[in-house]
Amino acid sequence: QDESREAMLAALEEVRDQFGREYALVINGRAIDTSKRLESANPSNKKEKLGHVSMATPAQATEAIDAARNAFKAWSETPADRRAELLELVAAEMRMRRYELAAWIVFEVGKPWAEADGDVAEAIDFCRYYAQRVRAMDDPRAVNIPGEENSYWYRPRGVAVVISPWNFPLAILTGMTTAALATGNTVVMKPAEQSSIIAFKLMQIFQNAGIPDGVVNYLPGVGEEVGPELVGSPDVDLIAFTGSKDVGLAINATAADTDDRQTSVKQVIAEMGGKNAILIDEDADLDEAVVGVMESAFGYAGQKCSACSRAIVIGDVYDAFIERLVEATKSLHIGPAEESGTQVGPVIDKEALAKIQSYIEFADEINEPTYRADVKSLAKQGHFIGPHIYTEVAPEDRIAQEEIFGPVLAVIRAGDIDEAIEIANNTKFALTAGIFSRSPVNLRKAASRLQAGNIYLNRGITGALVNRQPFGGYHMSGIGSKAGGPDYLLQFVVPVNVTENTMRRG
Ligand code: NAD
Repeated sequence: QDESREAMLAALEEVRDQFGREYALVINGRAIDTSKRLESANPSNKKEKLGHVSMATPAQATEAIDAARNAFKAWSETPADRRAELLELVAAEMRMRRYELAAWIVFEVGKPWAEADGDVAEAIDFCRYYAQRVRAMDDPRAVNIPGEENSYWYRPRGVAVVISPWNFPLAILTGMTTAALATGNTVVMKPAEQSSIIAFKLMQIFQNAGIPDGVVNYLPGVGEEVGPELVGSPDVDLIAFTGSKDVGLAINATAADTDDRQTSVKQVIAEMGGKNAILIDEDADLDEAVVGVMESAFGYAGQKCSACSRAIVIGDVYDAFIERLVEATKSLHIGPAEESGTQVGPVIDKEALAKIQSYIEFADEINEPTYRADVKSLAKQGHFIGPHIYTEVAPEDRIAQEEIFGPVLAVIRAGDIDEAIEIANNTKFALTAGIFSRSPVNLRKAASRLQAGNIYLNRGITGALVNRQPFGGYHMSGIGSKAGGPDYLLQFVVPVNVTENTMRRG
């Protein structure tokens, strides 16, 4: 513990010394500066400026796609084992630079230490897991009968555009990109504006590992400006997106709108938002339920797609649960992400703050919150908003229906397990769900009836480990198979069957 604390403190200082640098686009291995630049600031301390990132133009998006197209043939013909080896080198460098990368995450997106470190660990796991999976997929399935041989192969799709969110700035970008690379596709990486420096660090690591020029291109840019060019291009075969529902749906529509120049139907993988519920049964262990809900709702200030934003409490346990939840939430340490004890840091930027505040104003009109953390002094230096707990919320209220993506929890009453499940399922965003209960029957009911991609029984919704809890949506929270799961890479390939009449062999 002490050792990692020292290492993290040293890394924060080292990274501070690098503030103020410029970050260029990387297309076909070449650094390209642009006149439009974004100044990155620390969400915990708005005055602390991290550096300037060049923002791509739509013409540069096309240039990056062309570079990826030109690099495709050689990369797709590179043996899968060699591609896997290169990804293992990427993982090895990330491991060496673990604290430095985590420090960048702390500064650029305001993620508290332990969670920033977890982000890096997840990125490493993705590289290693997809390297392992692609080796397994490289063995063609053979179905042979006398006189006939069949083999079933996976081929890469072509050029992949990867569009990522800021809230898991290294893990999600690495996961989508390495899945595409492992399977032999070439990539244009479009990171979220708010996490472009971390994405640059990833680009640097790909280059250091020896991934050839053009195979990965780094294209930071404003989503609305370069997004349509990237998604609409007839030269793109696959789009891997993680982000909000509205952008995901717009990408889906643009990608489906083909013209005569298009040679394949674009494959779209879209992982989107969540309005996640945890059910608290009458006989639940309340200590565990309180910690589970609190950590899930307020960790990283509620800015996780998996975060619990609805607690649905069954029967008479309602008052006791709320009393304990409020007490526990009062003890959370709210502060700058770079302070080692911080549990709730800032939200990402002033736009996010304004959006969360507008939900709070709306909720206040119906009912004052049962608990509102006071963060006035912190709010002078950074984008801080403390945990809010609203009780007696109606299931159809806006704060129980829309993704707020901040530390705002709606507590809803339910009469019994059936009603609780019905309320939980009354949403478009069923990414995760959970239940605390001692009743085997109710646990079974929840496991079989909750409509969510990842369901947690007697365990807080605190995340998913690669290859242990493959992760992905349900309904409008996602289309695609689960990240970090055995079938994820299948989305990045075209299966081809080869049949030979062996009677004709010379
Ligand atoms: P966002 O949708 O605003 O942005 C995501 C990315 O899309 C960014 O890179 C952005 O620049 C780009 N973009 C914006 N407009 C675009 C357009 N018109 N065309 C193409 N690209 C465009 O999301 P965000 O604020 O970065 O991230 C938060 C959201 O992501 C939340 O809704 C959260 O639930 C979701 N999320 C989902 C998962 C999951 O696994 N399901 C994981 C993390 C985050």
